[in-house]
Amino acid sequence: MEYSKLGNTDIVVSKLCFGSLTISPLQSNLGIKDGVCVIKEAFDRGVNFIDTAELYENYSYIRGAIKGRRSKVIISTKSYAYSYEGAKNSLEKALRELNTDYIDIFSLHEQESEHTLRGHSEAIEYFIKARDKGYIRAFGISTHYVDGVKAALKYNDIQIIHPIYNKAGLGIVDGSVSDMENAIKEAYEAGKGIYSMKPLGGGNLLKDVEGSIAYVLNNPNIHSIAVGMQSIEEVIYNTALFDGKEVPEYIKTSISKKERRLLIDFWCQGCGSCVHVCQQGALYINNNRAEVDAEKCVLCGYCSRHCKEFCIKII
Ligand code: SF4
Ligand code: SF4
Repeated sequence: MEYSKLGNTDIVVSKLCFGSLTISPLQSNLGIKDGVCVIKEAFDRGVNFIDTAELYENYSYIRGAIKGRRSKVIISTKSYAYSYEGAKNSLEKALRELNTDYIDIFSLHEQESEHTLRGHSEAIEYFIKARDKGYIRAFGISTHYVDGVKAALKYNDIQIIHPIYNKAGLGIVDGSVSDMENAIKEAYEAGKGIYSMKPLGGGNLLKDVEGSIAYVLNNPNIHSIAVGMQSIEEVIYNTALFDGKEVPEYIKTSISKKERRLLIDFWCQGCGSCVHVCQQGALYINNNRAEVDAEKCVLCGYCSRHCKEFCIKII
């Protein structure tokens, strides 16, 4: 496993970051014991970096997995806090539920632009003070926006950027893949730590996992890549890919046999844009939310490209 320093910070992370949304109640909803085993397998195979968020409700899994090795693991979490008090609550919740006295990286979740950052100024003030006191090692943002990456460049205090990035540009709200690449390059050169998310476009690029991962790995301006993993087999698969090793055939077979399904995330706005593009007639709106008829869905992933909210995943 390759390791590098996240920009100008002193935080050293593995190239593969464990994306923990996939094990959480919002997605595969693994039992705590199973989730802890999957995370520990990744740690045992050289991954030292885990990404979570208050939204994912999975701190208890991570608490179990870091027991006895806290100092060897880099934890990155995030919240939507706007106010000083909200930020304080978010940090205290993370410290308490993860059973730790510091968080390596604390970020504001899903920032869009300078405008949204201004709206979070009280929370930013709190997080900077918490960093000065040693409760946080570095402060950052996550974003699906090219403008979000550019906005972070204007804040010296934003040390880490967690942008969405994949070869198809899935989930980038305000630009193309090359727009995002240019913004990431600028941020990397300015000393920001960059760890990207969604190399498989929320499961929509599963038909070409190796090509999709290679595409992101080949970008020299990214320190680490968060990949969602929900089974021991997926951990073995991804660590082999990142180590440049051959993935064992039995692992490939086991993963290819996994039953997948379409997931429409809870933040669906019910706009209906996806419904009209499904040639199978598998999507419909019910109670202001898109729903899928699994009998009709062929998991082509075509609808996901038409969802500006990036709600549609294949898990
Ligand atoms: S396009 Fe996205 S937000 Fe709109 S209805 Fe479909 S899933 Fe929901
Ligand atoms: S994945 Fe394909 S078949 Fe399934 S709902 Fe989306 S567009 Fe329709």
